[in-house]
Amino acid sequence: MNKTMTLLSTALLMAGVVTSCQKATTARSAYDKQFENYPTYNGDDLELTVDNKGTHFRLWSPKAEEVILNLYDTELNGEPYKTISMTADPNNGTWTASEAEQLYGKYYTFKVKHDGKWLAETPGVWAKAVGANGKRAAIIDFAQTNPEGWDQDKGPEVKNFTDVIVYEMHHRDFSMSPTSGIANKGKFLALTEEGTTSPDGEKTGIDHLKELGVTHVHILPSYDYNSVDETNLQNNTYNWGYDPQNYNAPEGSYSTNPSNPTTRVKEMKEMVKALHDAGIGVIMDVVYNHTAENDGSNFELTAPGYYHRHWDDGRYSDASGCGNETASDLQQMRDYIINSVKYWADEYHIDGFRFDLMAIHDTETMNQVAAELKKINPSIFVYGEGWTAGDSPLPVEQRALKENVAKMTDIAVFSDDLRDAVKGHYSNAEDRGFATGKPGNEETVKIGIVAATDHPQVDYSKGNNSKFPYATSPEMIVNYVSCHDDLTLTDKLRKSMPDATDEERMAAAKLAQTIVLTSQGTPFIFAGEEIFRDKKGVHNSYQSPDSINAIDWHLKSANRDQMDYYKGLIALRKEHPAFRMTTADQIAKHLVFDKIDSENTPNLISYTLKDSANGDSWSEIKVIFNGSGEARTVELPEGTWEAAVKDGKVDPNASLGTLSGSVTVAPRSALIVKR
Ligand code: CA
Repeated sequence: MNKTMTLLSTALLMAGVVTSCQKATTARSAYDKQFENYPTYNGDDLELTVDNKGTHFRLWSPKAEEVILNLYDTELNGEPYKTISMTADPNNGTWTASEAEQLYGKYYTFKVKHDGKWLAETPGVWAKAVGANGKRAAIIDFAQTNPEGWDQDKGPEVKNFTDVIVYEMHHRDFSMSPTSGIANKGKFLALTEEGTTSPDGEKTGIDHLKELGVTHVHILPSYDYNSVDETNLQNNTYNWGYDPQNYNAPEGSYSTNPSNPTTRVKEMKEMVKALHDAGIGVIMDVVYNHTAENDGSNFELTAPGYYHRHWDDGRYSDASGCGNETASDLQQMRDYIINSVKYWADEYHIDGFRFDLMAIHDTETMNQVAAELKKINPSIFVYGEGWTAGDSPLPVEQRALKENVAKMTDIAVFSDDLRDAVKGHYSNAEDRGFATGKPGNEETVKIGIVAATDHPQVDYSKGNNSKFPYATSPEMIVNYVSCHDDLTLTDKLRKSMPDATDEERMAAAKLAQTIVLTSQGTPFIFAGEEIFRDKKGVHNSYQSPDSINAIDWHLKSANRDQMDYYKGLIALRKEHPAFRMTTADQIAKHLVFDKIDSENTPNLISYTLKDSANGDSWSEIKVIFNGSGEARTVELPEGTWEAAVKDGKVDPNASLGTLSGSVTVAPRSALIVKR
């Protein structure tokens, strides 16, 4: 997820494995116990409200000795036009102040006196609008930020989360290249532009998404983050954005004018509206697990010590690998996370949340997150990285780990099982996987195929990453082979298949994604994979320039065949509920693996989806994956079968030919037939 993170995903896994063998630690470090009895406040008027009686401020800071409110005319520079000493409300740890006028257009900061010292100014933790670089909170009229028709705006209805097809993208990756044909490059508004094309006349932007058929886009962090100087956007700055600054305001560099606090709010809503109008949901990547700064974070500047976890000696604990971790197990932080996602769902109509390093949070918080979001919109999809990037004072059994997903309701986790088994180890560039001819990964791929649920034919003792069926429902699993982290699939294939041709690599890419898009669980693809985009071999491109990160849309015409294949796979999945079963029982009953001696015939998996699984119009579907570099012969059960996937082509109507008896499956390819 960020600068230090790429090598850590397995470290996390390891952390899970290692620490689970240790004695359960106490619930909280000795140092953090001091915060347990802080009074908390969960009112909806935290920090700022404007009504017909004026403008009201309420900062939660239970141990502050004094709090000052500064009011400004400008977003940066200059002295406050007014400074107000706030009044303590000792019952709930808050400090209040009011002004009789509606202060629209003004800015404010708080200043807290703690242990006899004045801390630096902060916009607080609940700034919903900010000026450039997010140093001062802005007072704006949110009623003025809604696009036309916003009241009727609604994302796609999701019956089961296995119906969702996620497309993960960064705003700049998607539109910065001159080949995108998009006017608002790198901006929220890029996704509102219809009719854009590449120089070769291929659709780009939102039209490309519609053509591809994905149901949801997952946008990389789009709240206000720290690393890009919003006053100097000409400086060609790029960052993934895993360095949170203001959690409840959009990032300024994605707006056309970071200095106007209304603009970013308005433009983000316009983006959501445009995607919703296209039938596409919007999932936000959220990073509540750590803050960009330690002592300088808004959390520390409002309630020192409280929001972060520490070891017994008072040092920041660092399960994020970024210098700190937050404390979801403390009430005010738990409420903060819950209220923040609720705010994004309410105000911005967000359809899903992807929790970065979710296992830094506790399962109870995640359960409450999902339950509260469900009340707003039952279609909201919540998933996350079920691991941490280092050890945490939070006991293993309380962490929202992949291995603990069964303790969580309506939460899904990424399957690193399928990811690593299909393409090879994520951080060992040369390592190959099932789809690239390395034997021994068959059982782990099967774990992915059954969405890590209990299945009579899957032997979890042979799993590479997981040794037990950790999911009790396919709705708990997100399957993928690549994302923004680590090498793109294209680069991974180039490094792990150095002697192959790009044509052979593209065949392997198709096979890998066929596994993702036909497996049980929710499929997830990384933007541009469908046109074989690369990042020039850079595995950790979090701050690489656009020349590395931007998708070159020339690739769409050059690799049109890949695009058509992805599009076909997506259509196949959408039309056939057999690939989207909703319970573990269904999978155990309707998905039957063929017995294959993997010792003698490695890199071959074959299974049947039988008895019109999940109400499918096809009574039987045979799925065969050949990850070896040689053709394999497979015996089809008696009868006539029609091909839906064959020799690198997909046809959701299964008109790629009639097959029976012995059939040959080309090297690195999938064969899917039905009857
Ligand atoms: Ca920012």
